[in-house]
Amino acid sequence: MLIDLIAGARPNFIKIASLVDAIEQVKVEGAPVRYRLIHTGQHFDEKMSGSFFEELNIPAPHYNLEVGAGTQAEQAGKIMKAYERILLKEACDICVVVGDVNSTMACAIAAKKIPGVKLAHVEAGIRSGDRTMPEEINRIVTDSITDYFFTTSETANEHLLSSGVAKTAIFFVGNTMIDTLLKNVSRLKKPQVWDELKLKSGQFIVLTLHRPNNVDDDAKLADLLHTIASSAEGTNIVFPVHPRTAKALKARELEISNLHAIEPLSYLEFNYLVKHAKAVVTDSGGITEEATVLGVPCMTLRDSTERPETCTIGTNELLGAGTKNIPAAFVKLFAGNWKKGSIPEKWDGKTAARIVEMLTNRGMLLNNNAENELDAARYTL
Ligand code: UDP
Repeated sequence: MLIDLIAGARPNFIKIASLVDAIEQVKVEGAPVRYRLIHTGQHFDEKMSGSFFEELNIPAPHYNLEVGAGTQAEQAGKIMKAYERILLKEACDICVVVGDVNSTMACAIAAKKIPGVKLAHVEAGIRSGDRTMPEEINRIVTDSITDYFFTTSETANEHLLSSGVAKTAIFFVGNTMIDTLLKNVSRLKKPQVWDELKLKSGQFIVLTLHRPNNVDDDAKLADLLHTIASSAEGTNIVFPVHPRTAKALKARELEISNLHAIEPLSYLEFNYLVKHAKAVVTDSGGITEEATVLGVPCMTLRDSTERPETCTIGTNELLGAGTKNIPAAFVKLFAGNWKKGSIPEKWDGKTAARIVEMLTNRGMLLNNNAENELDAARYTL
């Protein structure tokens, strides 16, 4: 059996780290499972890619497609062509894509068009309902051709069922990004900025922004940053800047005394900050999940979320895309009235092991016989 594991951008690396671990630990009939780790090169530099491989002990990819930056279609097209070449040399039995980036969608399409290849989507079924987000298009397209849906929440299960996916193809397994967090929470690393700014636990804010809607217009971004900084009332704000955001930020050269823009941090350093922060302000998806598990108040600067459980169960609150709800949210935070939250079902550190057991030892996904389907029922809804 040959499994292809696809990763292309920062959040993918964190999601596949636990899958690689789980694959390497499993044996089928006494032999290791053959897999190919395929890095598309969508994110490629040390800060957005290399550091994650080092810190999370992800082995060097078997292939690097080196597609680099580009428009949505350019990037997807390059990835499809390059991955198809690999598949035509040797097709895998199952292609596992994670998340919702361009690499997810492009590799899903390339794999699914090769006869006999099955497609598994990890983090299937989540929806923001906002089709202006490129990620939402990637999710919808990927799920429309997926064979096996590994989900993080009941809401995702419901989306899939209501779009006509068979119950037996949906596997509610939990969250591989949280596997990685739980595995690494005891080895998080204090970043340099901690001493530089003399940060103290519970007395600073972490900010990240990278959605086109918030960062592509530099005037809008400046307005957001001024509102966040003044609402934080002098509290230090550490702002690791995503490459996309850096462009708009350069155009402005903002000087805001309590706002500290720095380079993107490595995973262990970033989550050290989150764990010790008073709150996180973000438009990321993954960070709302990590803040939930770490029990840190989280404000999301978007109108919608594809991860509603971070709000209904976790510590996250949607403030909307503009600035209007930001001041009141900080008042609530500083008054000590932020909700405590708890941890969503199956976000327990064992998700990748569940997925890999299904893909390998049991072989039940690949051997589609009646007996295995009955067995699969243990894992379905
Ligand atoms: N992250 C990181 N360093 C940073 C900012 C984020 O390691 O400076 C990690 C974060 O812990 C999370 C992931 O990157 O695991 C989230 O990625 P991103 O916000 O780019 O993507 P999204 O989750 O919105 O798809």
